[in-house]
Amino acid sequence: MINGVKKDEVYLVKIDDLGHNGEGIGKIEGFTVFADGGVPGDIVKVKITIVKKNYAIGKIIKLEKPSPDRIKPICEVANICGGCQTQHIDYQAQLRLKTNKVKANIERIGKLENVIVHETLGMKNPYHYRNKAQFPVGTENNEAIIGFYKRKTHDIVDIKRCYIQKMINDKIIKIVKAYISQYKISTYDEKTGKGLIRHILTKIGFATGEIMVVFITNGRNLPHKDEIIRLLKTEIPEIKSIIQNINKQKTNRILGQECIILYGEDKIVDYIGDLKFHISPLSFFQVNPIQTKVLYEKALEYADLNGDETVFDIYCGIGTISLFLAQKAKQVYGIELVGAAIEDAKENARINGIENVDFYTGAAEEVVPKLYEKGIRADVVVVDPPRKGCDEKVLNTIVKMNPKRVVYVSCNPSTLARDLKYLDDKGYKTVEVQPVDMFPHTAHVECCVSLKRK
Ligand code: SAH
Repeated sequence: MINGVKKDEVYLVKIDDLGHNGEGIGKIEGFTVFADGGVPGDIVKVKITIVKKNYAIGKIIKLEKPSPDRIKPICEVANICGGCQTQHIDYQAQLRLKTNKVKANIERIGKLENVIVHETLGMKNPYHYRNKAQFPVGTENNEAIIGFYKRKTHDIVDIKRCYIQKMINDKIIKIVKAYISQYKISTYDEKTGKGLIRHILTKIGFATGEIMVVFITNGRNLPHKDEIIRLLKTEIPEIKSIIQNINKQKTNRILGQECIILYGEDKIVDYIGDLKFHISPLSFFQVNPIQTKVLYEKALEYADLNGDETVFDIYCGIGTISLFLAQKAKQVYGIELVGAAIEDAKENARINGIENVDFYTGAAEEVVPKLYEKGIRADVVVVDPPRKGCDEKVLNTIVKMNPKRVVYVSCNPSTLARDLKYLDDKGYKTVEVQPVDMFPHTAHVECCVSLKRK
């Protein structure tokens, strides 16, 4: 208790920031306190529940003075459901907070000056934006419940309507619930590892309207499956694919390896811009296709290609950015750790008739230096790393390749700022940063950054 903040005591706190999970952050005499549900601008009474060396956690017991940005969420379970974190904050304020977070990281961690950080590009309609939903299935009082996990638990909140998923999901859930109840199908219990239906996964092509429904089951036999297939396809003709995915492992992983087609195709199709993508049950695809297009168009603008360039797309996933770039470049090299993603990337190149892309499977920190040793050089480099940012070996090899421009796409402003500082020290100036809101009502922010050789 060196800092003076005591467990079980109540303090008056002004919330002035948001944490990674959308929790409010304030200070008690300079000591950081996290309080779930706090909105920057709120003045709240907080009862301290946990005191650690560098911070405390508290529970808001009274809202003394609400922030002007505090609103009533449209979803009735918004304050318990783990699907959203910041529905209680006005959307324009959410965007402002995201911009501020990016600026603060660039200044504090990146120690960069004269960087233009644009306002976060938000959505016109920040609801019903997700193309993929994974609903856990359970039983409560002998009735099926389907929804999302409550925050920080694996208890299911039963959902009738979800405001960030496509509305057709509400209908799919209703049909599946009725089927489970009528035929007394068992649902999976995480504690015992028993019960059949674990999750319902849906994927929707925004441009095509095609729908895939996946039953994830702890076993092979799905009773009365003809009946549920008939119900789904007659009630919802847009369903192009019904799949059973078998996962018998006692694990938090949602999907197993084996898929059985119950009806229709093994994939659905969607477009981002003019590019076509095959989406299968196990493959990764960006969850907000509208904002993905905004982000990738920005990346393409910053890459500023004229058709003569060799471009690297490092951490390329299923090759989405690579294929965007290939339309304007001479040659693109895509590099990605996960072999299955590279298989999808190659398939996506093929169905779009794109031939000037080569994909490499492996860790970027090994593959990029190898390509460099072979004498391959990039005129422009795009990176889109996972949350931990780029490996130093990758950054170092990029610098050695001496490209004219680097475009950094990032889902984590703090590792982004760290890497921008590294590149600045080695001769690459951060010119501008464009934050894009890919996940409204969460604290996540994606950035696209333009760097130029000094
Ligand atoms: N650009 C992609 C997605 C990028 S997400 C798209 O637009 O779809 C980050 C990607 O980095 C993931 O696909 C992940 O599998 C991959 N990855 C993680 N660690 C890696 C490493 N060490 N080397 C190469 N790729 C890696």
